[in-house]
Amino acid sequence: MTEPLAPGLYIVATPIGNLGDLSPRAADILSRADLIAAEDTRVTAKLLRHIAVKRPMTPYHDHNADRERPALVARLGSEAIALVSDAGTPMISDPGFKLVRDARAAGRRIVTIPGPCAAVAALTLAGLPTDRFLFLGFLPSKEKARADAIAEVATIRASLVLYESGPRLGAALAALAKGLGGRDAAVAREISKAFEECVTGTLAELAERYAEHGPKGEIVIVVGPPGEAPPPQVDDLDALLREALARLPVAKAAKEVAAATGLDRHDLYNRALELKA
Ligand code: SAM
Repeated sequence: MTEPLAPGLYIVATPIGNLGDLSPRAADILSRADLIAAEDTRVTAKLLRHIAVKRPMTPYHDHNADRERPALVARLGSEAIALVSDAGTPMISDPGFKLVRDARAAGRRIVTIPGPCAAVAALTLAGLPTDRFLFLGFLPSKEKARADAIAEVATIRASLVLYESGPRLGAALAALAKGLGGRDAAVAREISKAFEECVTGTLAELAERYAEHGPKGEIVIVVGPPGEAPPPQVDDLDALLREALARLPVAKAAKEVAAATGLDRHDLYNRALELKA
């Protein structure tokens, strides 16, 4: 007889393609949970069949979450409930964060069972810097909103990770090339499945490759960080300092321009004094 699980919410990551990636701990929690809250119970039923487990399930997805959440939070006081999404880590472009928020507010036990996540798996395949990265989820599908979303992150000095679908891939890459310039990037597809591949190149090269028809399957785009900006020319620097001096005292103007350019604050202070004189 296996020990019952302590009451609480168990956030269980599930495979993103290869069922062999379900961890023994995840399988153990799923087999002992009093209830499994699943994004799509039909998808999770397949996973449970794979590990020969039968447990009660209830749907928990974007369309019923607000209605179902209070009852689930109440049940967490006396039952062990596992939260799963269709694939990967719950809450990463998937439902669940409000359930965790409310469970936490109600003082319930919350345990995570980490595992597969397409964003992290793609970063490991891409061969691009991983020391700083920004996960953007799915870009908006409308052209203007997509361009705005890209412009918003264009100056961030980090790799970018985006989820995409095959049919939208060409348009997304073209918009990224336009908004971010010639950065290195990778298209990781069907990770952990039979046709896993990772194609690398500049954004423009990838946009051209996938312009005609998007590939089948599930896709993550990884974009490398912007290159080092060329140091500003002296004329540009003087213009920046003059503009700042029109609003700020010398020291603050030098500090602001130093932050914007990465140049030495004392040098900028001396130059600002010269300009002021
Ligand atoms: N929660 C999931 C995770 O942890 O990665 C992501 C869920 S999100 C609704 C689904 C998207 O993740 C897909 O459209 C695709 O962009 C990406 N994805 C999921 N599985 C993938 C795979 N095996 N290969 C590449 N991308 C995948």
